[in-house]
Amino acid sequence: MARIAIGGFQHETNTFAPSKADYAAFEDGGGWPGVQYGASIFPAVEGANIPAEGAIQALRAMGHSLVGTAWGAASPSAQVTDDAFERITQGLLSNLKDAGRVDGVYLDLHGAMVTESHDDGEGEILRRVRALVGPRVPVVASLDLHANVTQAMMEYADGLVGYRTYPHVDMADTGARAARLLDQMLKLGRRLPKAFHQLDYLTGIPSQCSFIEPCKGIYEELGRLENKYNAMLSFAPGFAMADFADCGMSVFGFSVEERNTAEAVEQLRRIVADAEKDFALELHAPGEAVRRARERGAPGQPVVMADTQDNPGAGGNGDTTGVLRELILQNAKDAVLGLLVDPAAAKKAHEAGKGKTLNFQLGGLSRIPGDEPLGGEFTVERLGDGRFTCTGPMFKGFRMQLGDMALLRSKAAPGVRVVLASKKCQAADQEMFRHLGVEPREQRMLALKSSVHFRADFQPIAREVLVVKSPGPALADPAEFAWTKLRPGVRLRPLGPVHQ
Ligand SMILES: [Zn+2]
Repeated sequence: MARIAIGGFQHETNTFAPSKADYAAFEDGGGWPGVQYGASIFPAVEGANIPAEGAIQALRAMGHSLVGTAWGAASPSAQVTDDAFERITQGLLSNLKDAGRVDGVYLDLHGAMVTESHDDGEGEILRRVRALVGPRVPVVASLDLHANVTQAMMEYADGLVGYRTYPHVDMADTGARAARLLDQMLKLGRRLPKAFHQLDYLTGIPSQCSFIEPCKGIYEELGRLENKYNAMLSFAPGFAMADFADCGMSVFGFSVEERNTAEAVEQLRRIVADAEKDFALELHAPGEAVRRARERGAPGQPVVMADTQDNPGAGGNGDTTGVLRELILQNAKDAVLGLLVDPAAAKKAHEAGKGKTLNFQLGGLSRIPGDEPLGGEFTVERLGDGRFTCTGPMFKGFRMQLGDMALLRSKAAPGVRVVLASKKCQAADQEMFRHLGVEPREQRMLALKSSVHFRADFQPIAREVLVVKSPGPALADPAEFAWTKLRPGVRLRPLGPVHQ
């Protein structure tokens, strides 16, 4: 039995996004539990599909004793402020220090954190943890599939294990895999050989879905290589919205033998390199998407439109109006858009009350070029307090607190309804609609502020999924960002222009 310190600090940073993540954003959590210190991290993550929870359950089942340090997460956004980074990291380190002797450390990290002062947030966290525990204590971290893995992260950690599903239905499973890797090192009494390669092209997040090719096949191959080489392998497609040198895709792995590790990771690298052309993705303009949804959608078989470039899960604020405008313009029937994040409009709906019709200026709060608030008369059809528990495969067990919520119906286009929320969260769970009495399956079309995570809960009810390109900060094509710090030689999209 070993004594293991548990911690976590997750943020996915889109350096091109409109707002930063301050300490209050981590207190809020953005759908995740708010930041916790010490033993309170255990009840906070209990029962949820969260990496730390998977690791905690697995380590306990192995008979280890656990000590909590700090755990925090916030909605994806621009940089983590120095204040938030230092407060949470210092909290984690001081509790780790107070814990006295530990035999191992497990960390629940994202891998794509950029702070105001550190381009490689996780590299800095791992560097400080390593400095505190010394070279002999194994440190293993789980990472998001969108991790932009760096040499520093590989150097300061003894083990890194990434999700292998997008939508991330395996977050808790990945924590458990990281726990097994840590346990293996403790039993062996030594660390394992590692191997790591970065790929030389970027991919947009809609094309990284593991339900579809090429990622579906890549993760199947990864599983075969793991068995063949008795290795723990990861492929991180990365988050191509963080402007720093190491942004992009990577492969890495660990196994007992040096040669097996190198061979397995090199084979995985080659598979990902060969898949470059398959990462291209079809994107639809809002007008074309709504037209298609009107033709093909039917109650019981809705067409789902992913408003990917305003995805709150990728740094958007969930407040752009391009797709809503098009739904109203085309007078769509049985159409619902969610979640439009506009606290002032939600408050106004609550003050007016159910059944009232009044003039609203919806969204457009982030002042994204090409986007503006949408004005018009809407009827307040239903109100909610934003508190509910998710039931879909990815957010199962997440206890949401989205503040005032309201369901509005357009007067100009009475078949169009909007789900308003006060706090930003990706529309990836059907409960976000049911909270206001909307059964997603019964609609003809659904417009969701999400890139891929919605597929876990919505693809099974969708006749088809259309990825829509409307103005927003989470660009589907990484080549459209103004890169300044990315390492030279990287192709900015599959088979695309090379960054100089
Ligand atoms: Zn992710």
